[in-house]
Amino acid sequence: MRLILLGPPGAGKGTQASGIVKKYNIPHISTGDIFRKNIKEGTELGTKAKEFIDKGLLVPDEIVVAIVKDRLTEDDCKKGFLLDGFPRTVAQADALDIELKKLSYNLDKVINIEVSKDELVKRAVGRRICKECGATYHVLFNPPKKEGICDICGGELYQRADDNEQTVSKRIEEYQNKTQPLINYYEKQDKIVNIDGKQDIDKVYSDIVNALGGE
Ligand code: ADP
Ligand code: ADP
Ligand code: ZN
Repeated sequence: MRLILLGPPGAGKGTQASGIVKKYNIPHISTGDIFRKNIKEGTELGTKAKEFIDKGLLVPDEIVVAIVKDRLTEDDCKKGFLLDGFPRTVAQADALDIELKKLSYNLDKVINIEVSKDELVKRAVGRRICKECGATYHVLFNPPKKEGICDICGGELYQRADDNEQTVSKRIEEYQNKTQPLINYYEKQDKIVNIDGKQDIDKVYSDIVNALGGE
């Protein structure tokens, strides 16, 4: 299965990705996670990306495209992949099309998770992430059993620096200007599946699996 997860910041891409990659046994490629890992490790890439991420702006296309191109040539992508948060611009989508053609990979579906703006801000601001395993929680909508502690690995939960109301608004604006056109882009390729992301996490998941033809 070769999939793209599309949707505004806070729509639930990461949350749904963890179930999908398990079910279809494919690698999860999240450009946001790759940047956060590099920031944590203090790499040159991390330092560069942080300048943009902290302002709620997209990281320049050439940086992101190079990372994903590299990642797609790794062996584990032969069994399929889930791209989460990439592409985010038409230029990235064009570059991806070229790369997929080179590798003789066909995209199966682009899952577009739809959520209204007010809800997105609430979701992003209440988001908490495990420092150790990256699992995602929400203080109200998906709280861990023990406050501040990951259910899965016992790691400490933290809040992303870019998950404050001001930066989230900027990210939503970037999404509307630069990423939303991709819905039409992939509609033309007949790949888009629209999913109502306002529903419960489990219902969103079962709608995705149904749309992919599974049970
Ligand atoms: P969210 O889960 O809120 O959609 P991500 O974790 O996917 O956010 O991304 C966090 C930040 O990393 C983005 O706001 C952006 O600055 C940067 N980023 C991630 N993926 C891309 C991309 N494909 N192109 C440009 N910037 C990106
Ligand atoms: P994205 O990767 O699209 O930015 P996340 O998967 O990180 O989004 O989800 C953003 C926040 O919203 C997280 O705190 C998550 O727990 C919560 N969330 C995800 N899906 C739902 C849902 N269907 N209903 C309520 N909250 C949700
Ligand atoms: Zn954890």
